[in-house]
Amino acid sequence: TTMRIGLLFGGRSGEHEVSISSARAIARALAADENASKYEVLPFYIQKNGRWLSGTLPQQVLATGKPVEIEEQPGQDDSAASGQFPNFNAVDVWFPVLHGPNGEDGTVQGLLKLMQLPFVGSGVLGSALGMDKIAMKMAFAHAGLPQVKYIAVNRSEIWSNPCVFPKLCDKIEATLGYPCFVKPANLGSSVGISKARSRAELEAALDSAASYDRRIIVEAGVVARELECAVLGNDNPQASTVGEITFQSDFYDYETKYTLGQADCSIPAKVSGAIVSQIQEMAVQAFLAVDAAGLARVDFFYIESTGEVLINEINTFPGFTATSMYPQMWAADGISFPELVDRLIQLALERHGEKG
Ligand code: ADP
Ligand code: MG
Ligand code: MG
Repeated sequence: TTMRIGLLFGGRSGEHEVSISSARAIARALAADENASKYEVLPFYIQKNGRWLSGTLPQQVLATGKPVEIEEQPGQDDSAASGQFPNFNAVDVWFPVLHGPNGEDGTVQGLLKLMQLPFVGSGVLGSALGMDKIAMKMAFAHAGLPQVKYIAVNRSEIWSNPCVFPKLCDKIEATLGYPCFVKPANLGSSVGISKARSRAELEAALDSAASYDRRIIVEAGVVARELECAVLGNDNPQASTVGEITFQSDFYDYETKYTLGQADCSIPAKVSGAIVSQIQEMAVQAFLAVDAAGLARVDFFYIESTGEVLINEINTFPGFTATSMYPQMWAADGISFPELVDRLIQLALERHGEKG
């Protein structure tokens, strides 16, 4: 009998479109020759407004790659009446293909855990720690992983009290200096991130970040190469070949990430074997430090002038399109895209079978 895979995609986040691209690639991989007899795909599409759809509409989104917006019918409750209410019971294993808040952050993982079915990727804790850059950095620090200097800020220090704000800026200038990076703690795809080179830019950056999140992180800026490593597994995770991202823009911002031709990757990265080993070891440590499961991509800063390797972040559901770094780094190690997807489902089953 075939296993029915509940492919959950779209979602209430700025990375809705990326999720659709990832889901298309994963659906194709599940239908590939080596997987077709094992798996059947049941797509569930979460609209930008948060409504879940199953049946033919999600199939249509997968086929076209375009989001669908359905007008809210006033006074009419969901699509249950038309027989379109998502049939959760038909699913054997969930595959949440969601990036960013409300999907990669433990919220959906909590729901799936309550449903008592296996699901691909990290659980509630791993997802939440992987999403919140402040909590993530605390977990990394505890594991002894080197990282940039940073200051955690609450929105109230920016917006609520006009006496506190100048002191906060003074502290950031004295501790981190310029340039510094100001980030909403719980986002991805560089959304809401600014590089501040002066007091005026710092003030504007803090105000902007506060519009995205209650929790904000400010980091010392480094001049570094950006290296990435894919991790696969549960309690004994493996690290992939290391890749490098290069681009012309000032930093790896949203536009650079998603405009064709603005960023390049090289796999393997042209760095020494010693740096590769160090990164692979740190990637596995980072994975374990946040209690990730299944998959994660761990990103690093390599400061060539000093030889230092700093951890930047972990992404518990990295971009998963055919051209994304995560599957490409595994391809370099001989694991094809369909095989990777198959392994992730097997890891979900393995983890579900464990206690706790
Ligand atoms: P996201 O989770 O949105 O990808 P990141 O923390 O990875 O956020 O930051 C996005 C990009 O901003 C990085 O890939 C890098 O180009 C730049 N960046 C972030 N923090 C720093 C830093 N401390 N020093 C230098 N560049 C940084
Ligand atoms: Mg990220
Ligand atoms: Mg990043």
